[in-house]
Amino acid sequence: MTQAAGTLYIVSAPSGAGKTTLVKALIDQIETLRVSVSHTTRPMRPGEVDGVNYHFTTREQFLRQVGEGDFLEHAEVFGNLYGTSQSAVERTLAEGHDLILEIDWQGAQQVRRALPQARSIFILPPSREALNERLNNRGQDADEVIASRMAQAVAEMSHYVEYDYIVINDDFQTALDDMKSILRSNRMTLAHQQVTHRDLLNALLSD
Ligand code: 5GP
Repeated sequence: MTQAAGTLYIVSAPSGAGKTTLVKALIDQIETLRVSVSHTTRPMRPGEVDGVNYHFTTREQFLRQVGEGDFLEHAEVFGNLYGTSQSAVERTLAEGHDLILEIDWQGAQQVRRALPQARSIFILPPSREALNERLNNRGQDADEVIASRMAQAVAEMSHYVEYDYIVINDDFQTALDDMKSILRSNRMTLAHQQVTHRDLLNALLSD
C-alpha cells in the first residue's frame, strides 16, 4: 500500500450546534485524522491551553504573520482575529493525515478558493428552539446577549448552501456516524484508491 496525501475538511457551524464536541469525538475515534490548531487574538477562556485549543497571540503578531503570508486563511470573527497556519496544513496533509479545519464561513470561502479539492461540512442544530436553548448558557446571560448570539448564529447558518455536506446534530451518535460516513466514503473515491491500492491495481491488470 502506498500513502495518499490526506484530505482537507472544512467544518463550520453556528456556535451552539455542537461542532467542537463532534470534531473531538471524530479525532478520538479515527486514528489518521487530525485537527488544525488555529491562531487567535481572542483571550484564553478558563480551561483552554495554549497550543492545544488555539495558539493564542497578540493582534500585532497576528498581523505581522498575515503580512508574511503565514496563513492559508484568516478572518475577524466577533471582533477577534483567527487564522490557519499554511505550513502546518501542508505538513499534516503531506504526512498522509486527513485534516479538519474548524473555521467560520469567511475562512471556508478562502480555503475553497486556494484548495478547491477541500471538502466542506456544515453542522446545523435540529431546531431554532434547540439552538436557543444551547445558546442560553443555563440562563446566566441577559436577554440581549442571547439575542445577539442568536443573530450571529443565524448569520453563520445563512451560508450553509456553500458547503458540500450538511449534518444535522439532533442525536449526537447519528451526527457522529454521518460525519464518519463522509470521511469514509471520501477514502473510497477513485483518486484515493488509485494511490492507496496502486500495487493491487497494477497486479490485477497485468498480463
Ligand atoms: P471560538 O472563539 O468560540 O472558539 O470560535 C469562534 C468562531 O471562530 C467559530 O465560528 C470558529 O469556527 C471560528 N474560528 C476558529 N478558528 C478559526 C480560524 O482559524 N479561521 C477562521 N476563519 N475562523 C475560525
